[in-house]
Amino acid sequence: MESKKKTQRINLWNLQSLMEEQLKNLPLRAKEKQTENKRFFAKLKKRPPRNLDYIMQELHQAEFKKTNCLDCANCCKTTGPLFTNTDIVRIAKSLKQKPQKFIDTYLRIDEDNDFVLKQVPCAFLGEDNYCSIYAVRPKACQEFPHTDRKKFQQITNLTLKNVAICPAAYNIVEDMKRRIKM
Ligand code: SF4
Ligand code: SF4
Repeated sequence: MESKKKTQRINLWNLQSLMEEQLKNLPLRAKEKQTENKRFFAKLKKRPPRNLDYIMQELHQAEFKKTNCLDCANCCKTTGPLFTNTDIVRIAKSLKQKPQKFIDTYLRIDEDNDFVLKQVPCAFLGEDNYCSIYAVRPKACQEFPHTDRKKFQQITNLTLKNVAICPAAYNIVEDMKRRIKM
């Protein structure tokens, strides 16, 4: 039994170090693909396939069967979401705080006039990569990396940035290029 637990710990350690390595290399790999991705997205915007929504659902689901966000949490560590007023009211209520107190404690206003985290990693991210406000987390966190959203061709500029942050988004874009011949 003890040896089985030890093997599980080693496997977990291997998975974590594999992900760490992947995250370290991701910005460079994304940069290397940038020109190719820009060309592909320009064509996609002009002539999106009729079944693009369906394709994106399939690619997104297949990727997140392989990628476990709890091994990664890179979005929570490096960027963080924007918070809508609805997010703020909902989260503050769950923390039994007044919205203004929540804003003063955790948020700042960015150059686009949006509420964002004062600092990253996000204050709600635990050492185990769990989100302590998961059930009420901001809509932007729920939807990140947006690869299953409808009319995906409308968010290609955002996706160009996200492939450098999110290994799942990177893989999905690579799969898109293989699957959709432009
Ligand atoms: S959404 Fe992407 S960046 Fe965020 S934890 Fe999951 S795989 Fe990592
Ligand atoms: S609120 Fe939760 S999901 Fe969103 S960035 Fe913070 S830890 Fe991550």
